[in-house]
Amino acid sequence: MDNECLDSGSFKLLITELQIRHRTKQLAVKIADDYRGKDLVIVSILKGAFMFAADLLRRLYYLGIEPDLDFMRVFSYGKGDKSGGRIEIKLDVSLELKDRSVLVVDDIVDSGKTLLHTKEHILAMGAKEVKSCVLLDKPSRRECDFNPDYVGFIIPDKFVVGYGMDYAERYRYLPFITVVDTSGSK
Ligand code: 5GP
Repeated sequence: MDNECLDSGSFKLLITELQIRHRTKQLAVKIADDYRGKDLVIVSILKGAFMFAADLLRRLYYLGIEPDLDFMRVFSYGKGDKSGGRIEIKLDVSLELKDRSVLVVDDIVDSGKTLLHTKEHILAMGAKEVKSCVLLDKPSRRECDFNPDYVGFIIPDKFVVGYGMDYAERYRYLPFITVVDTSGSK
């Protein structure tokens, strides 16, 4: 049974649950190698990265990495299915980040503005280093000089949902990622 549902009509399966699991494992191995012995804090961006961050943290645990965890909620204002230009931090980290290594975990990089702003914000809090790990990257949409340090999958310029990501707050619960055609439903 490999995610056949929601692969019809407006939905097109893009990345299966199994592919996500394999890639997350590979990313965790790389991250574990890079952060072994460091004082690591993972900052997960809500809501979209909640599932990815949870799975990544579990993989890291089995590789001997036990980071602290915090959350941020960052809004990029704009239009329904696209990220906008104005960034607002709705929930900030509560842990002390001074002189610590921070890895920001997010669902997807699009224009890059959300993560660029988040990184600058965390550096301003005195973090020693800030890197980012995203499950998905849409490089063709980039509008600023930002590239994530760890990327799960590079995807085309399509709107995706599932595995934490929503369309108008729906579909976050899906264990896989599907492209959704948003053209007819605004
Ligand atoms: P950026 O600031 O890089 O333009 O926007 C990143 C944020 O926009 C992501 O964290 C996510 O919330 C949202 N986003 C960008 N592309 C998609 C997409 O294809 N699907 C969903 N659900 N959200 C997206």
